Amino acid sequence: MATSSDQPNGGKLTGSSIVESLGITPLINAGGPNTKHSGSRPRPEAIEAMEAMSEVFVDIDELLLAAGERIAALTGNEAATITSGASGGLVVQAAAAMAKDDPKLISQLPITDGIPNELIIQRGHRFIYDHLYLSPGSRFVEVGRPTDCTIDEIEAAIGPNTAGLIHLASPFKSELGVTLPALADLAHSRSLPVLADCASMLPPRENLTKYTSQGADLVSFSGGKAVRGPQSTGFLVGKPEWIEYARLNNSPNPGVTRAQKVSKEEIAGLLAALEAFVEIDEESETKNYRDQMTFIVDQIAEIPGLSAEIIHNLDHYIPHAVVRFGESWRGPGYSEIANRLKVGSPRIYAAVDYRETPSFISIDPLNLQDGEVAIVAEQFRKVLIDASSGN
Ligand SMILES: *Cc1c(COP(=O)(O)O)cnc(C)c1O
Repeated sequence: MATSSDQPNGGKLTGSSIVESLGITPLINAGGPNTKHSGSRPRPEAIEAMEAMSEVFVDIDELLLAAGERIAALTGNEAATITSGASGGLVVQAAAAMAKDDPKLISQLPITDGIPNELIIQRGHRFIYDHLYLSPGSRFVEVGRPTDCTIDEIEAAIGPNTAGLIHLASPFKSELGVTLPALADLAHSRSLPVLADCASMLPPRENLTKYTSQGADLVSFSGGKAVRGPQSTGFLVGKPEWIEYARLNNSPNPGVTRAQKVSKEEIAGLLAALEAFVEIDEESETKNYRDQMTFIVDQIAEIPGLSAEIIHNLDHYIPHAVVRFGESWRGPGYSEIANRLKVGSPRIYAAVDYRETPSFISIDPLNLQDGEVAIVAEQFRKVLIDASSGN
């Protein structure tokens, strides 16, 4: 048997020692908080809070109520509650829209006999994760076209079976549809809730209140992306009445969301992460990311056939180094470049535009640790130079 002195670090447990004992190779995450690539790194404050919280037992309902109040105060909203990721929040939104606070209906879902179960969604707001809305038994009524939709088309779709109206805020979605304020006015004139998926829209921190102030009744955010809470957490902010319905439809209560449990440690971890997140000076945070991305862009900008620039806009929630291939590019496409980075040494995950025809590969600084900017710059440069000569 191996003794502790045979092992690096004198046998002390490390992230590397855990994955190596399992026979897998870690990677540098230069592609952002993508779940398949481990999300984001929980803040030290979150890890500390999780460990401390493991020492006590509490009544989970009491904890969720108190934690919800804390999140509401921290984010500047009227009410909030915790969910299992933003996607868990979508399930809870749909369940709340259908069953509200009726214990019989809550335990009946996903069977929706006798309950309005239709969620109206603009075709331009369909998204890879939106099936979560269907898991408690709802149905989509799709309106408009992938590129646009009118308020009249939404109004015409509302009927006795309508339970709620969906709004998505995400990069890559069509911006030409019905706006959130217009959707909310219509919904509220029919006593219907607006259910919003804004999972990845943080930062900017001002978005913590943007969607609620525009009329959304329930807004789902990820806790495991740039907030850097536990990967499996998320939170809903919104109107007190709808947050209460959401809580009643959520784990730990029995029902369709029972599998979406969030532990007391994760709850404490998310609170600590959010506390830290809202305190950070966004301007200096942005400048820091921009400086890191400038370093990467400078290393690759001269490679023939490509353009490299720093972009910080709706598609890129923090400054990214974005590389596009021009007509004179002789190498393979974006996905192949990402593959080469991922099988290299060290392994690097970079993000490829996930639309059908990708138009860029980018570096996201969120998960880069000390020293990794230089490593990523060097590897990216090597792979691109090699590819640019037609290899
Ligand atoms: C990331 C994301 C989700 C899923 O969030 P999780 O916290 O990982 O569950 C849902 N919707 C959108 C638009 C997202 O970007």
